[in-house]
Amino acid sequence: MALLLKLTFCLCLIPVTWAMASPAKARGGCSRRPVGAGPVATAAPEVVHRKVLDRFLRYAAIDTASDSEAKVLPTSEGQRRFADLLVGELQGLGLDHCGVSPNGYVFATLPATPGFNGKGIPVLGFICHLDTVPLLGPGPIRPVVHRRYGGGDLVLPGDRSQVIRVKEHRRLAEKIGSDIVTSDGTTILGADDKAGIAEVMTALEMLREHPFPHGQIEIAFTPDEETGRGMDGFDGKGWAARFAYTVDGEQLGEMNDETFNAASAKVTFYGRNCHPGSAKGVMVNALYAAARFLEALPADQRPEAVDGRAGYQHPYSVNGEEEAVTVQLILRDFSLDGLKARQKLVRALATRIARGLPGMRAEVGITESYRNMKPVIDRHPFLIAAAEQAMREAGVTPVRVPIRGGTDGARLSYQGVPCPNLFSGAENVHARTEWIAVDDMVRAVATIVNLVRIWPEQAAARASRKGATPARKSGGR
Ligand SMILES: [Zn+2]
Repeated sequence: MALLLKLTFCLCLIPVTWAMASPAKARGGCSRRPVGAGPVATAAPEVVHRKVLDRFLRYAAIDTASDSEAKVLPTSEGQRRFADLLVGELQGLGLDHCGVSPNGYVFATLPATPGFNGKGIPVLGFICHLDTVPLLGPGPIRPVVHRRYGGGDLVLPGDRSQVIRVKEHRRLAEKIGSDIVTSDGTTILGADDKAGIAEVMTALEMLREHPFPHGQIEIAFTPDEETGRGMDGFDGKGWAARFAYTVDGEQLGEMNDETFNAASAKVTFYGRNCHPGSAKGVMVNALYAAARFLEALPADQRPEAVDGRAGYQHPYSVNGEEEAVTVQLILRDFSLDGLKARQKLVRALATRIARGLPGMRAEVGITESYRNMKPVIDRHPFLIAAAEQAMREAGVTPVRVPIRGGTDGARLSYQGVPCPNLFSGAENVHARTEWIAVDDMVRAVATIVNLVRIWPEQAAARASRKGATPARKSGGR
């Protein structure tokens, strides 16, 4: 399948459009076809393919699973080792202020090109996360490259019971001709979010080697996104970036500007215990209250019963004995009113059930986890417009979908850095049958590079609408 990827660079104010064949095709002899005039220097598509794949294979093999039981950030040693490796590579790429904080956050700055620093061009950030979910196997992770996928089901060589079937993964059929990366079937692959990191790092390398005018770019690789603590040690207000994108989405072209509103609830029923032999009229068994409570949660509002824009309440842990039982739940809803209604429901059910059992008492604690970022993103529509333009110029059709979950960007948006989410190309994440097409990773790199190029143009357009002039100048690269 001939796949065309366009990378548009603006060098010295001479627009140059490159039509790039797919890496698979390019390796067969079709290289680059410059259109237009002017000085041109950029990597051939097969080079981008090789660079992003090499990085991804190296990164994926490092076990960076986070640990939800650990108290300190990062919650695993593997994340720290990965962070150190990335700092070395960022320094090797010549970025400024490369470092890792004591709690495992990697930071680096790509300075603006001359004349593009300062007022009028907001500092742009890119964020990915270092950790993965647990490996689902003993490890190590052994990534497998299925060269030039020819169609059909993919049987994973380390555990042949793990099969990526086309009938369950319809998009796989669209990737014929691309290299596909999977694990060997004994673990997850960890493309969430190693693919995002490999793509951002490759985009940075392209920007260093083939610079065109751009503003200041900030990079942050964060620990423990999967444990929900990725923003716990992040100071959004102190970060130089005023707007950012997480590269932590999934299928090609996906963009997320909407997440759930999220809360967690802890419901504890207190009874009274005594020896069962003399319990008549004395014992109040909290286990029955917990059972009634679980039974009373609406069955049609369970995660396994809903999709699309429907929220849910989901009990995920029950602990206790006769004296006291604690039920822990998560509550999710795209609307804030909807989330509040779910909180009210949990409180009302717990109270009603305790009242129905003489001597029983209920306590409900609710903690807000994150909020839907959409109201924040909606105030800055250029964030979506720029990303959509960057994707289209990379030959990608943008698909805006709400995330039935959260991102680090949701919390960051409420710390003053509006932050939608871009695709990485990862598919079926958190499973042993996770996969990613390298052609899609190349498109993600192109999208990031295009976004960096578009950013000052967008700032100039906004400034001219407001009657101001942003600090940019022509000439020089
Ligand atoms: Zn992720």
